[in-house]
Amino acid sequence: MNTVEIIKKKRNGSSLTKDELKFLIDGYLNGSIADYQISAFLMAVYYKGMTDSETLQLTELMLNSGKRIDLNFLKGPKADKHSTGGVGDKTSMILAPQLALLGVYVPMISGRGLGHTGGTLDKLQSIPGFNINLSEEDYKNILQKTGCVMIGQTDDLAPADKKIYALRDVTATVDSMPLITSSILSKKLAEGTDSIVFDVKIGSGANLQDEEQSKELAKRLVSVSKKFGKKAIAVLTDMSEPLGYKTGNWLEIEECLEVMNGKQVRDLIKVNNVLAGAMLYLSGKAGSIDEGEKKASDILNSGKVFYKFIEMSELQNSDTDYIKDYTNLKRSKYSRTLKADKDGFINKLDAYGFGIANIMLGGGRQKTDDKIDYLSGIILHKKCGDKVNKGDVICELFSEHEQKLHLSSDYIKDAINIESELNFKKRLIIDIID
Ligand code: URA
Repeated sequence: MNTVEIIKKKRNGSSLTKDELKFLIDGYLNGSIADYQISAFLMAVYYKGMTDSETLQLTELMLNSGKRIDLNFLKGPKADKHSTGGVGDKTSMILAPQLALLGVYVPMISGRGLGHTGGTLDKLQSIPGFNINLSEEDYKNILQKTGCVMIGQTDDLAPADKKIYALRDVTATVDSMPLITSSILSKKLAEGTDSIVFDVKIGSGANLQDEEQSKELAKRLVSVSKKFGKKAIAVLTDMSEPLGYKTGNWLEIEECLEVMNGKQVRDLIKVNNVLAGAMLYLSGKAGSIDEGEKKASDILNSGKVFYKFIEMSELQNSDTDYIKDYTNLKRSKYSRTLKADKDGFINKLDAYGFGIANIMLGGGRQKTDDKIDYLSGIILHKKCGDKVNKGDVICELFSEHEQKLHLSSDYIKDAINIESELNFKKRLIIDIID
């Protein structure tokens, strides 16, 4: 087979056979096919799409690029959640310890920042020492001991996704339905859970900007999961403004720790607890999503989730003093505030603009080997729907480089809209696909 001919075939809009897809994936993993050729292939998929059967085959090939973990030795339900990607989207850090406390094992395999959206692995690595590269044995031991574990793809687990994901991040090939479907499912199907809940984002900060496409993605994720024998639910949630008040790697961990300790961040807690409710329902620990949400809320309010997160983090080698010291605010060297330039109501805090600004501040990558500045990010002081007076602080930006503050401020200014009339209606949970 010839790599260039396969790329050309997809570029011209034809479907690829399983053997052709296998040739590309195997070749990329063994080094006989170069980054630039897979980049061209990904761009061809972005423009020409894939049929359902190609998407299924790509998912299987990516899944089988590594091994599937057998978790049958665990006595109890095993569930996970995966988001299609958002800005300020930090529920994984709360959900894993929360569900573990409620008797559900959570063996989470996550990704890094992707496009304008943040990644759980980058957030976790803002905690000094946090080891996301565990051996299978350690992954299983920690899971058995504490009920939850959070790692990344390895050479054994969905390695094809690990490589392709990093390439998509820097080649503008994130927002493609077949690529998102195969990326998410190759990780989630490898984990060995009984059920998966998908948080499918809708709005400017989602990876697919079109609402109908996001709904289609939700249906595909659920139906392909079922084909692989998993129970699945997709919750469609709002991503028109950042979730919560904090965006950035450590800042998002900090906000999770605050919520675990009683801070009321309405949108974050609602989305989190509905996802938790769906996980409990699929795991047989609640009779309905509503009942699960209530259980999730009670355990979050108990304060125990914080200690479970510390327990997991300690087993994953973290500096837990750094976590416990979260109220001693850790901030970048430079900061800047942006203020309202008139009286009125905030009708837009465009999540996409905030996501790009976060990357420009140092929180994401523009090239695969870019180093992340873990303390950079944005703190919102207002949310959509809030009334402001001229001069009120809307947000604070943080970076290790003063120049980056100036560049990203322009993006943020364009992302904020203040009008004299309130013209904003929040739809936090848009739909649930069962
Ligand atoms: N999360 C993933 O793991 N992959 C995607 O493509 C999008 C979100």
